[in-house]
Amino acid sequence: MEFETIISHAGKKMDPAYGAMSMPIYQTSNFVFDDIGKTRAGYDYSRTANPTRKVLEDTLAKLEGGHAGFAFGTGMAAITTAAHLLKTGDHVISGDDIYGGTYRLFQNVMKDHSIEFSFVHMNSSKSIEVAIRPNTKMIWFESPSNPLLNIVDIEMVASVAKKYKILTVMDNTFATPYFLKPLEYGIDMVMHSTTKYLNGHSDVIGGAIITSTEELSKKVQFYLNALGTCAAPFDCWLVTRGIATLAVRMRKHAENAQAVAEFLQQHPTVAKVYYPGLKTHPGHEIAKKQMKGFGGMVSFEIKNGEAAAHNFLRKTQLFALAESLGGVASLAEYPALMSHASMSAEARKQCGISEGLVRLSVGIENSKDLIDDLSQALEGC
Ligand SMILES: *Cc1c(COP(=O)(O)O)cnc(C)c1O
Repeated sequence: MEFETIISHAGKKMDPAYGAMSMPIYQTSNFVFDDIGKTRAGYDYSRTANPTRKVLEDTLAKLEGGHAGFAFGTGMAAITTAAHLLKTGDHVISGDDIYGGTYRLFQNVMKDHSIEFSFVHMNSSKSIEVAIRPNTKMIWFESPSNPLLNIVDIEMVASVAKKYKILTVMDNTFATPYFLKPLEYGIDMVMHSTTKYLNGHSDVIGGAIITSTEELSKKVQFYLNALGTCAAPFDCWLVTRGIATLAVRMRKHAENAQAVAEFLQQHPTVAKVYYPGLKTHPGHEIAKKQMKGFGGMVSFEIKNGEAAAHNFLRKTQLFALAESLGGVASLAEYPALMSHASMSAEARKQCGISEGLVRLSVGIENSKDLIDDLSQALEGC
């Protein structure tokens, strides 16, 4: 079955009791046993597994083409669970341009548990190979990255990692499986903040992991249950409902983002636009090769720096000043003081997050209205 068919049928017609079209929310902590040690349908306790969560997890596995999917209470809970595949003394090579919360977990939490990190700009196999140590056990990266929309050649990362037997994990939150399936390029594990495009309606915090092998699935299920990082049934129901419209939403997000990026690129107060759909983007050709569309995130630099960026953000009407991304309504934010405030000024400078940088999550509104809003807000900046 094709992508659109899988998503629109997820959780439909699965109710054996009444034939409800929409899947039931099994809002229960535990399940009655048929006999001592004998469950009715394999379920005993909702931390371990829950039927509503299972529908979302199976859907995620199908969309990414993986062995199994796992749903977590937050994107960070998914990352925390993945990080538990590491042991004291292991070394991780991470992309340098990653979600601020991931950077904080690695730099300020996992380091205290004696896990070593190298933050690397992954623009060539050499840049990764020089960072490899005898104890390197994981490569973690995003593409497109947050907030600079850098594109990493996924096949290149997977081939280096396979040569050195290093586990690869890719955060696919920005692209979603509609535009990009990292497992097809040899990545071992995919992670999502389902808070963003997968749910798409700014009303759930959630996360996901999709594994490529049975061995990884067993490990992730063990840590999910042992750590208690799983998602609640109602949140799983909402994310499954959100996923039903993922294909049409992503097409519109990308169409609007392309229009917004092209408008910004010719605007006199804009110094630089970051969008992989622009031919001038250094990762455009690789993005075109590995993605079916370029996504809905656009970042840009205002020529006159911080004060001008703040001025712009106070003037937008349709673009709400808020962190997060991937909802149907457009958002704008200032990474240096908002989404990426948990990174040190030094680390921000090193990866290129400037004082004039603004990040847009382009929604599915009418693109003319969005451009009119940007146009009036940029006036006098
Ligand atoms: C938001 C986000 C996360 C963290 O997810 P939460 O659901 O906020 O915990 C991780 N990675 C990326 C790329 C994100 O945008």
